[in-house]
Amino acid sequence: MPERKNIHFFYRKGTQLQDKIDRLKNIAIDYGFNLVDHFRDANIIASIGGDGTFLQAVRKTGFLEDVLYVGVSTGQLGFYCDFDIDDISGMLDAMLNEQIEVRRYPTIKVQIDKDSSFYCLNECSIRSGIIKTLSLDLYIDDLFFERFKGDGMVISTPTGSTAYNKSLNGSIVDPMLSCMQISEVASINNNHYRTLGSSFILSSARALEIRMVDDGNTSPIIGMDNEALSIRNNEFIRIELSGKRIKTVKLKDNSFWHKVKRSFL
Ligand code: NAD
Repeated sequence: MPERKNIHFFYRKGTQLQDKIDRLKNIAIDYGFNLVDHFRDANIIASIGGDGTFLQAVRKTGFLEDVLYVGVSTGQLGFYCDFDIDDISGMLDAMLNEQIEVRRYPTIKVQIDKDSSFYCLNECSIRSGIIKTLSLDLYIDDLFFERFKGDGMVISTPTGSTAYNKSLNGSIVDPMLSCMQISEVASINNNHYRTLGSSFILSSARALEIRMVDDGNTSPIIGMDNEALSIRNNEFIRIELSGKRIKTVKLKDNSFWHKVKRSFL
């Protein structure tokens, strides 16, 4: 990556790992990188922490498409973290010997009513904020699909399919496919209420619209990856695959399916 020289380190301040982070910064300088304080000046944003920190790094820097995000793990290797802070020589070896590849991960765009929209890299979740079921009408494009009653719904990207979605028995989706998956959280299914009951996958050409049903509970919590937003009396949430892709680096022998095998089998 000879042309990418400005690097910004994203991590939780006050972390006990400051010594290791300082060492990593010094090595980056020795190898000709410029450390920049503001992510706007960076070509590379290095997240130091776990998958949760990587999700925050992408969110707090605004889902930039013209930077390369690098996940450096401080514990177990995660799904977004290919590098280990305790193996700096391995990291340098991989970079210098061209053992890395760039991959682009799909994101979803979530629009709430007409006024606000945001992106998600793992998933958008809509959950009841109180101990009462949530009623939601689901439309696929213009087709009224089902009325959902239960705890909530999770709409995940392919890379997010191994996170919250997996706990809901959703499928694991190859990130080379541009699609989103919709999974139910504890739907009520009986002679009064009926939902599909299984997860389903929509192509990039489709949109999902979720309309709030005024059933005494119209204040759900919206989860955007690992951040929460409370909404009140909103009418609809429209979710579709965005054109925005997050560029990250991966080790050549560490594909998505290597990670799935390493993590779950
Ligand atoms: P974190 O780094 O503590 O993550 C928690 C765990 O989720 C870690 O083991 C992490 O490696 C794993 N993880 C995160 N993204 C993943 C992915 N794409 N594929 C596989 N594993 C992944 O940080 P956090 O802030 O707590 O994590 C946020 C994520 O936690 C959310 O985006 C959501 O997917 C997930 N979550 C899961 C559940 C559940 O499974 N019941 C509930 C709420 C949130």
